[in-house]
Amino acid sequence: MSELAQKIIGFDVWHLEVPVTSRRDHGIGSIEGGFEVVVLRLTTEDGTQGWGEAACWSVFTGSPEASLAALDRYIRPLVEQRPVGARAEIMAQARYVVAHATEAKAALESALLDLEGKLTGVPVHALLGGKVRDRAPLSVSIANPDFDQDIALMERIRDEGVRLVKLKTGFKDHAFDVLRCEHIRAHFPEFGLRLDYNQGLPTAEAEASVLDLAAFAPDFIEQPVRAYEFDCMAALRKICPVPLLADESVFGPEDMHRAAREGIADGVSIKVMKSGGLTRAQETARLAVQAGWTAYGGDMHETGLAHLAGAHLMAATPEITLGCEFYHATYYVREDLLAQPFPVKDGHVVVPDAPGLGLDPDPEKITKFDKARA
Ligand SMILES: [Mg+2]
Repeated sequence: MSELAQKIIGFDVWHLEVPVTSRRDHGIGSIEGGFEVVVLRLTTEDGTQGWGEAACWSVFTGSPEASLAALDRYIRPLVEQRPVGARAEIMAQARYVVAHATEAKAALESALLDLEGKLTGVPVHALLGGKVRDRAPLSVSIANPDFDQDIALMERIRDEGVRLVKLKTGFKDHAFDVLRCEHIRAHFPEFGLRLDYNQGLPTAEAEASVLDLAAFAPDFIEQPVRAYEFDCMAALRKICPVPLLADESVFGPEDMHRAAREGIADGVSIKVMKSGGLTRAQETARLAVQAGWTAYGGDMHETGLAHLAGAHLMAATPEITLGCEFYHATYYVREDLLAQPFPVKDGHVVVPDAPGLGLDPDPEKITKFDKARA
């Protein structure tokens, strides 16, 4: 039997809460204590396991309860007893069997690619078209309402070779944003600075606040206003002297078409979780670059398992040139889900070359973080 004829006979889903080291505030909401993810494990007839993570955030992409139900109730029947080689067909069916639920579909594609890679002895990036880079610059997000703690974090990551930070703005007041930009520029001159409002600016204040912070010459300013405010984004783009980045406004290729047509930004944050999988994330990045935009490797609140999907995406997608933010496993969770550390070296994410995703979750961590199982 060819490897890809193996049937998928196991479909297990867990809803986990992963403890974190600090509170973090964003324009649309906060994380405190832990964040919630849904993990999928597929098992074939010979016992090979493929893993995927749905990294959900209820205020951004959707709830973990919705991801769990999407996988357990609607996607499970598309997968059980199907051969691993039916990946493309399964993904095409999953797209329409349940609306939205992009994180669940991302977990599914990750697990199918992990299985296919393990069974055929190739890394996931080879299944996505081949590797164009071995590593990608890592950006760490600064979002602690206690800025002294973030200063300590910046000193640590500077020592470890990180040279990009993304400051989360728009969750307290403009004076706090200015103060932190001033401090970072004065005391951390070696860092590239990016700003992310996470939709936090009221429309009426957007122009003044964005222009004020643009004076700190960030590489880009991300999603200043609500996801649906395309007209406001387009107006800001016309007056902003630094690039604007769309995040919540652009989930997948369909949004990207409209966003490019309406000229709402200069770049886009590509996320496996928003796109509904790795191949659709690649499609979004290609459309962005064809429209003259740049692309960034974004993420949600994720464990190292979802970071692995992102790392393989970065490896096989030359269009994503602004680095990536897969830092949670290294610099935010109390304990990661993976059995071995997510690979970060000298301020870069290192792309794994082992078959499949390259690393597996630790079953004991799943038991430890478990909230509910389907
Ligand atoms: Mg963002």
